[in-house]
Amino acid sequence: MCDITIKQSNTPACAPTPACAEAHAHTVGAGIATDAATNAANENARAHTNERETPRTNLRRLSHDDLVYQLKLMHLPAFRAKQIEDWLWHYNIGSFDDMTNISKALRAQLAKQFYLYAPRAINKQVSQDGSRKYLLLLEDGISVECVGMPNGDKLSVCVSSQAGCAMGCVFCATGKAGLRRNLFADEIYQQALFIRDDFDGMRISNIVLMGQGEPLTNYTQALRALRLFNNPLGLGIGARHLTLSTCGIIPNIAKFAQEEEQFTLAVSLHSAVQKTRDYLMPGVKKFSLVNLYNMMQTYVQKTKRRPSYEYALIKGVNDTPEELQALCDFCRGTLCHVNLIQLNEIDDSPFKPTSEKRAQEFVRALNACGVEATIRVSRGQDIDAACGQLQQRSCPLNKQKRS
Ligand code: SF4
Repeated sequence: MCDITIKQSNTPACAPTPACAEAHAHTVGAGIATDAATNAANENARAHTNERETPRTNLRRLSHDDLVYQLKLMHLPAFRAKQIEDWLWHYNIGSFDDMTNISKALRAQLAKQFYLYAPRAINKQVSQDGSRKYLLLLEDGISVECVGMPNGDKLSVCVSSQAGCAMGCVFCATGKAGLRRNLFADEIYQQALFIRDDFDGMRISNIVLMGQGEPLTNYTQALRALRLFNNPLGLGIGARHLTLSTCGIIPNIAKFAQEEEQFTLAVSLHSAVQKTRDYLMPGVKKFSLVNLYNMMQTYVQKTKRRPSYEYALIKGVNDTPEELQALCDFCRGTLCHVNLIQLNEIDDSPFKPTSEKRAQEFVRALNACGVEATIRVSRGQDIDAACGQLQQRSCPLNKQKRS
């Protein structure tokens, strides 16, 4: 869903675009093929051992209930869990020694059973518009990209939900590289904390899961990350300021609609003509536009929330009069907002962006049939941080030493 763009109204959004082996059980469609390799990589990452060869667990992989249970086994009171979680999810510590309100003896006890890992940047690029793109190294040597976009006193953040992506959208750099693995919730969450800290603790106003990957094929971990972002013990960001972007995994849109939080949903549409969409987004070919349309009406009925449709305008492909008519027909009379993006070019791609003039014609036509539409101004284009430009890159560096 990699789109690192921002609305002209200053609301960021994105478009074209993990304790827990469980993360990998929640995949749909094309992502499944690579899960065996993914699981093996993650298993390897988790099975860290101390000097006595006792397997230790990444402390951030424990749910609150799991942590309380583990503390109980250590004859410790439940309130310790909150203290520990504050260090993990608010202060983003990388070492048990940083838990200054916890006794040395308890810290040593924790370090015997658990380890901590904090991702580090192996690359950072700063755009002329102030956006910053980071390549973060995860504990198994996989790297992921994420972007911070400051706007006045607001900081918008775009994070990845997977390393790479299996969806194969033809205009997207991430899609070209394929899927490496799903990310755990803590790995998604820590991207935002890393960005916050790099912006000197600036408050994050909103977060979009629109970097690398299709979050709805990593449902459990993506949802856990959203809940951590939302939790006052975590970043405490209102649910409406947390957006999940999907290319249209219908069964999991249905599931997402049942969640109690008011998270925002963005669907990458990119064409309302079946043939064109199948070509542009082969990963969702099996989900027809008719079924997507019906699902979105059910979503709106159930949640009473307005979804947005992301539409990357590609010259001569999905900006023709027929495509515009089909888009108007798809949206007319429904609760939605259309985010139009002039495609961001990637290397070796035959696809070119639509002109500004044509994009404006789309806005006018949509408005004329009662549909709200906005052209988004892409952020970070000069550092390849814009919509569809994020790439999975391998890193030759060794794993960071864990605490
Ligand atoms: S290939 Fe994946 S990351 Fe790229 S646009 Fe499609 S769903 Fe998004």
